[in-house]
Amino acid sequence: MRREERYEKIIAWFQENMPIAETELHYKDPYQLLVAVILSAQCTDKRVNMTTPAFYERFPTSKELASATEEEIFGYIKSISYPNNKTKNLHKMAQQLEKNFGGKVPETVEELMTLAGVGRKTANVVVSVAYGQSAMAVDTHVFRVSARIGLTVGAKNPLQTEKQLVQHIPEELIPIAHHWLILHGRYVCTARKPKCDACGIRPWCKTGNLTKGKETDSGEKEPRKKNRTNKKIKEPEQV
Ligand code: SF4
Repeated sequence: MRREERYEKIIAWFQENMPIAETELHYKDPYQLLVAVILSAQCTDKRVNMTTPAFYERFPTSKELASATEEEIFGYIKSISYPNNKTKNLHKMAQQLEKNFGGKVPETVEELMTLAGVGRKTANVVVSVAYGQSAMAVDTHVFRVSARIGLTVGAKNPLQTEKQLVQHIPEELIPIAHHWLILHGRYVCTARKPKCDACGIRPWCKTGNLTKGKETDSGEKEPRKKNRTNKKIKEPEQV
């Protein structure tokens, strides 16, 4: 199957079957989204959502966060993974927001990436979700799923994945395509045991077609041992 056809079929399937796809993080404004995305690195959205209500109440804007002590910030996020680093990043990010951007979350990837704790993935999520821009954020799910399906070929890092995806996906669909791929990776095409039998895009998936008929210990069908597609792909630890 040609790659163009694969994109066409898979986009059509998602449009029909997942017309609404949004972030699972809870937020009300760009500042809250930025905080939530920083907290979500290597942590589940569910855990972040349990933490943020009290955090947002105590630190409703970057002003309160910038003037707090790190000890106090830590107290609010200690149940999240890597609380020490995230405390430092959130504190510094808030101070930079106040000093360099008047407390307003910037709208460009380049400006966002000047903030502590903000890499390309986080910046893309913020401009896409908070400001509706056509930016493709590549996290570990998007990276893995895109390669397995065959949407990307030979992408070795998130930036290469991002470039290939934006080249093939219509601009207006890029924000929702990001969520399609994340949700698909989180609930169907999971890292260790992709649920190929229950997967609606299997007819056009490069890996799903290779693995038809191969039973696994769990009763699921998954890639043949010598051909486990996720073996050769080096996933980024944090993207
Ligand atoms: S068919 Fe299998 S490998 Fe392909 S996207 Fe679906 S779950 Fe993933």
